[in-house]
Parts: sequence; C-alpha cells; structure tokens
Amino acid sequence: GLRAQRRRREMAAATSGNGRCLLSKVRAGRRPPPARVRVAVRLRPFVDGIAGANDTPCVRGLDSCSLEISNWRNHQETLKYQFDAFYGERSSQQDIYAGSVQPILRHLLEGQNASVLAYGPTGAGKTHTMLGSPEQPGVIPRALMDLLQLTREEGAEGRPWALSVTMSYLEIYQEKVLDLLDPASGDLVIREDCRGNILIPGLTQKPITGFADFERHFLPASRNRTVGATRLNQRSSRSHAVLLVKVDQRERLAPFRQREGKLYLIDLAGSEDNRRTGNKGLRLKESGAINTSLFVLGKVVDALNQGLPRVPYRDSKLTRLLQDSLGGSAHSILIANIAPERRFYLDTVTALNFAARSKEVINRPFTNESLQPHVLAPVRLSQKEPLGPTEAKRARGPEEEEIGSPESLAASASDTQKLSPLQKLSNIDPAMLERLLSLDRLLGSQGSQGTPLLSTPRRERMVLMKTVEEKDLEIERLKVKQKELEAKVLAQEAADLKEKENCSPTMLRPLAHRTAPVAKPLKKAVVMPLQLLQEQAASPNTEIHILKKKGRKRKLESLDASEPEEKAEDCWEPQISPELLAHGRQKILDLLNKGSARDLRSLQRIGQKKAQLIVGWRELHGPFSQVEDLERVEGISGKQMESFLKANILGLAAGQRCGPS
Ligand code: ADP
Ligand code: MG
Repeated sequence: GLRAQRRRREMAAATSGNGRCLLSKVRAGRRPPPARVRVAVRLRPFVDGIAGANDTPCVRGLDSCSLEISNWRNHQETLKYQFDAFYGERSSQQDIYAGSVQPILRHLLEGQNASVLAYGPTGAGKTHTMLGSPEQPGVIPRALMDLLQLTREEGAEGRPWALSVTMSYLEIYQEKVLDLLDPASGDLVIREDCRGNILIPGLTQKPITGFADFERHFLPASRNRTVGATRLNQRSSRSHAVLLVKVDQRERLAPFRQREGKLYLIDLAGSEDNRRTGNKGLRLKESGAINTSLFVLGKVVDALNQGLPRVPYRDSKLTRLLQDSLGGSAHSILIANIAPERRFYLDTVTALNFAARSKEVINRPFTNESLQPHVLAPVRLSQKEPLGPTEAKRARGPEEEEIGSPESLAASASDTQKLSPLQKLSNIDPAMLERLLSLDRLLGSQGSQGTPLLSTPRRERMVLMKTVEEKDLEIERLKVKQKELEAKVLAQEAADLKEKENCSPTMLRPLAHRTAPVAKPLKKAVVMPLQLLQEQAASPNTEIHILKKKGRKRKLESLDASEPEEKAEDCWEPQISPELLAHGRQKILDLLNKGSARDLRSLQRIGQKKAQLIVGWRELHGPFSQVEDLERVEGISGKQMESFLKANILGLAAGQRCGPS
C-alpha cells in the first residue's frame, strides 16, 4: 500500500513537471562549492568617428594578464590591474574566442552550464565582442558554429546520445524580462525548480539544427531590439540582451538518461554612470534599474570570487536568471570591454574595478610612457624586419630580444633590466635628458646622424617625451590662469551686484543675475572634464551657497538705507508689483519648460539632480502649466517647491521671515 502511494505521488509529480526532482534530490543536496568567474579585459583600439580618436591612450597592456592605467588623482602613480586574461588593442575576434570562450563549450555536453558576459561602457566594444560584424564575427556566431558542429558529431547515429539544440533570446529592461522571439508577451517570471534549475515558463525556445536556423530567428529579433532603440532613447544600451543556447542530450539506450547544458551569451547594458553622463528624463529613471542589475552582478561576481557564503543572486533579475549558470558548477567568463580614449577614463576605471583580481599602485608617472603603444609600436615592428627572429637572437642575446629594438645595443651594455625601452628612458634624470637632447641637436646641426644612443627612434621618443612634459606644464599654467580668471569674474560679479542694488532693487534680479553667462562657460571651457565632474559631484550647490549669502547681504544693505530692519523685512513682500511677480513667474515657467538641465541649474535651489528630475518629468508629462507643478515632480516635495518659489520669484532665500504663508 505504501509503495503504491509513493508511486502515485511520483506519477503526480511527473505529470506536474517535477518528476525529475525526486530522482535527483540526492544530487541537489550536495551542491558543488561556488566557482570563480573568470575575468578577461579587452581594450579596443582607437576608433574613427569616436570623439578623442587622436588622444594619447590613458590605459595600456603590460602582458597577457595585466594592464596599467594612469592615476589622474596622482600623476606620480600608475595603477596596475591583474586579470585572468588581457586582450590588447590588436587582439582579434579569434584571439578572444579561442582564448576565453571556446574552451568552455565542451562542458555543455557534459551537462554543465556556462555563461559569457560582455561588460563595459557604451562604445567600448561589447557588441563588437559578442556579435561582431560579417567581416569580423564575434563570440556569438563563433560559439554557435562550433556548438552546432560539436553536437552534430556527438549526436551522430550510432553514438550513445541524441543531441538537440534550442535557442531563446530575451532582454532584461528595467528589471523586466522580455521575450525577443515573441515581443507581444509581457514581463516573464523567473522560476527555480527543486533541483536549483532556473527556468522561465513561457519563454520561446526555437530548435536549431544549423547556423541558418539561428540567423533566421536571431536577426529579426535583434531588429526588434533596435527598433526599440530609436523609439525609446537608446534602449539597447540600457538593456541586457541575453541569448540562451540549450543543448539537450538523451541517451539512446537504457537507462535513457537526460542531460541539459545551458549557455548564456550576454551583451550587458552599458556600465557608464548615467547620472554622470548627463542622461536625463526617462533614461535617468532607467539608470536606477540598470544599475541595480549591474550593481548586483558585481556583488555576485565578488562573492563568488572571494568564496563568500552568501551570493546575492536573488537581488536582481539578471543574476537570478544566471543563478545556475554563473559560479557554482558553471563555467563563466566576464569580458570587460574598455576604450583607450580619455573621455572614457572614469568608466574604464569603473569597469576595471568591477572585477579585477588585484590592483596595485605603482610609483611611476604614466604620462611619460603613454606614447608607447600608439606611436612606437609600428616603429618597433619595422625595425625587427631586417633581422629574422633567430638572427636577431644571435646578434643581440636574449635580453635585447626581449627589449626588441637594435637601438638598445649601445644602452644595454650596463642595463640588464628586462623592461620596455620607454621604461628605461623614463628613469633617465631629466637634466641628463635635456643634455642628451641638446647634444643631439648639436650633432644634427653638424650633419651627423646623432649619437648611437640617440639614433631613432629613441631620439624621437625623447623629443616626444619632452613635448609631453611641456604640454603638461602648459596645462598646469592654464589651470592656474583659469583660477585667476574665475576669481576675477566672481569679484566683478559681486561688484556689479552691489552697484545694481544701489539703483533698482527689483525682485527678479537674482534670476536674471544667475543666468548671466560670463563665469560659467569659462569654467567649463577650461577645467578638465574629470575635475569638473568631480567638483560637481562633490558640491552641486556651491554656487547656490555663494548667492544665498549675497542675497542676504543685499537685502540687509538695501534695507539699511530706508527703514528699521525688522519692519522693513515685514514690508518686503507688499513692495513687489503684481506685474513684476507675474513676469517673474512667467520667466521661471519658461525656463522650467524650455531650459536644459544646465539652464535649470541657474535657478536657486535647483542642483544637478533636481534639474535632471525636472527635465525627466517634462519628457514624460509635457510642459508645466504653472510653477507650482514642480511639486508633482517625483523627488521634489511641496516644501521644496515653496522654498524654490520664495528663493526665485521673491528673490529671497528660503527660511526667512517674509515669504508668503
Ligand atoms: P558597445 O556595444 O560596448 O556600445 P560597440 O561594440 O558598438 O560598443 O563598439 C563601438 C564602436 O567601436 C563600433 O563602431 C565598433 O565597431 C568599434 N569597435 C569596438 N571594438 C572594436 C575592436 N576591437 N576593433 C575595432 N573596432 C572596434
Ligand atoms: Mg552595444
């Protein structure tokens, strides 16, 4: 009776889709210890058409596992990062695929899961790495080709297992799971079965037997995504595109076992900080959701790689989906894509910190050496050509082979370090460098080819380094000058203000004054972007503070002139003409409806964050019909709106006695 009962239970479980759970419960109890996520970094080359294509790079590779980046906080330091693999700007699609992806594919046929994730800021090469182009196919087409080939071989007639491959393609956008093969279906639910397998009931699965099948499903679905992009503000860079390839195996003979291996190929949302890049409106809203997923992904990778007991998979959709395919018994690789241009600097640092195995501060300025990969690499190549590798070895010995340029001949007699030529150069005392250069000039003017030590390209390098040094000094000089100018403008402003106050104290002055553009563009034109951004982040209200003080001062001064202080303050409001008030309101309303985030920041009480919230609200709800609508903006309270009105329309800093109440 007992046995029959149990059988019935099993049957019931089987029909409800949980049949396999009973069989494999034992296995589920002994989960393997969480595995590391391997991390590779790919530095793309400079790309035409991307701003800053003629920069000197601010990051470069050291060897097949490490790279260094300049530390803009401290010019005397360079930061060195170590990863499982580093792919430099000249690495090919095949290098990345063969080095980091291909080796994990065979595990799928052992019934294990795997994931490949491309991480990095928009424009750094995620899609190039994952998808590539017809001329340079990326990880996705290569992996599919190989996987299909592998399953054809392993599943051929006469082999013990029959194999089949299916694909699904989904997008995680604002923490919603959307089926790209069936765009009409809404947000899908992620479930976990009792064996710890993650599944999405209702997600389309298309069987694929050849690459043509894959393309047939994948290409239109990708277009779905791109259509969304133009309609919805570059949605594609804000969503995670998840391609799931499943390999199913069924044993042809008893005991007819089944195995399933899942491969996730993921083009992650851009990792740039949307608040910092000045995205507004809808995108500002999105960034929260995207940052949650990426943020949790970072924590999950961290927890896995440090062997922490709790891995917070459940804290985001993305990591929940990957729970059985990231860490654990799965084989996972995260490819952090970075770009060499300076404007990517902060995002590059973020991407490197995201999953670096180790980071090290090196006391060596980066700037002196940043010319190497860009300017000098071709020179090195062409110099190697006349000597074959073996001849070169005979001629120079192993050390110089490592150093890799004949010009080392003269210098290396006393120099046994295995370092790049530039590293040695950077150790030269600047005074010595100066003397060598002038000696070189002298010899040059006498028609000589230069000293052996200074023969090209070493000499060129020195000249270049010198130029860089001079440029750096020039920048420093400009910065000082700019500071002076700013101080001057501020002083001038203060003086102007005083003067105006003495003749016509209208209520609108603070607004009109604050929109006067003299000081601001100057600041923005000269300060280096990084510093500017940091300053803004640190104290978004600096200017407002200054003006508050002025406002108060102005009031006291003008009052001194007429009546006793307290009484005057009480009478302040009635002195404003209704036309002026209405005019002020209209002006502010116009600004609220037409101003950019930057314009809005010229208003009292509106910092960068609020300015973006306002622009965002406007994008979603249309224009403000009255200034009081500000209260409807999420993140701006009624109280804040009132204080905004006081500060801007009445020209009084909030918290003072004579506001309307
Ligand atoms: P993301 O997907 O991260 O936003 P993309 O893959 O679209 O970035 O790359 C941005 C641009 O840079 C594209 O024009 C792309 O073709 C180019 N690019 C990216 N990586 C490389 C590379 N390794 N070699 C050459 N071009 C690249
Ligand atoms: Mg992309």
